Amino acid sequence: MTEPILIMRDLKKYFTVGHTGVIRRKPIDVKAVDGVSLELYAGETFGLVGESGSGKSTIAYMVAGMHRPTSGTIEFRGRDLFEGGGGRPLDLKKEIQIVFQDPGSSLNARRTIAQNLAVPLRIHKPDEDVISATLRLLELVDLPPSYMYRYPNMLSGGEKQIVAIARALATDPSLVILDEPTSALDVSVQGKVINLLMRLQRELNLTYLFITHDLSLMRNIASRVAIMYLGKVCEVAGGAEFFQRPEHPYTQMLLSSIPVISDEEEALKPAKMVPRGEIPSPVNVPPGCSFNTRCPYVFEQCMQADPQMIELHSQHFARCHLLKAEN
Ligand code: SF4
Repeated sequence: MTEPILIMRDLKKYFTVGHTGVIRRKPIDVKAVDGVSLELYAGETFGLVGESGSGKSTIAYMVAGMHRPTSGTIEFRGRDLFEGGGGRPLDLKKEIQIVFQDPGSSLNARRTIAQNLAVPLRIHKPDEDVISATLRLLELVDLPPSYMYRYPNMLSGGEKQIVAIARALATDPSLVILDEPTSALDVSVQGKVINLLMRLQRELNLTYLFITHDLSLMRNIASRVAIMYLGKVCEVAGGAEFFQRPEHPYTQMLLSSIPVISDEEEALKPAKMVPRGEIPSPVNVPPGCSFNTRCPYVFEQCMQADPQMIELHSQHFARCHLLKAEN
């Protein structure tokens, strides 16, 4: 593998919550992200998968510069994203863009599509002709030039998301964070948006940090996949390895319940595992391994010690007391 372009080291994000009602309680830290270390390589699609409350979106917002980490670092091409203690420098903002789940709220409803696209162009490309650059962006995402005069409410959900993708590309980024970019769309248009994203990645050599709860989608498009549970990464591996040889009980549980379309894929699925209970609240993370309240293989050590992440096979990492590194 080449050098990573993005490195997260022991990344933590804690939110302090208090009680403002009649009964005052001591503020507590909610550990939304708790010691995550990941690397992204140029040109790959890195799938960051987890249930609601797992911390995957908090990681996206830190990489996008919207949240400052409580501790740990995020390096992009060797530079700390939060160097000097201030916000992200303008050149790093240009390099890393984000596409949100809901295109309706991420576009300004009172501005035309041209005006929405002009905002990043004026900031990051002040010397370029805005009209020509807008037309180029619309062509890049296969939208007709006439769309520049439309308002967001005149577009379908899929078209709004395509405009949001065009706006993210306005700054010529190298890393695009895709935060559940298709989950608010009709199934009929999800495929169209995914195909567009894949084409843009090939043509522009983009790196994607793809945040999703949809493991089936990652099977088709991810170069590597990481699974998060209650603020921590449980397992990370290359796409094919991840789906053919899942090691962590939580990954096996998730994969055992996803629908597949071929007998070949069905044969690779882990035996059906029925989860015990619901994901605990991030306010009340169990001691020891945080998956111990739902894991079918739980044993005494799991209640006392949090397992360390180990490399099981080449570039395949997981954290579980039952797992040992391959010699
Ligand atoms: Fe299950 Fe224990 Fe492994 Fe956690 S450490 S995943 S509870 S077996």
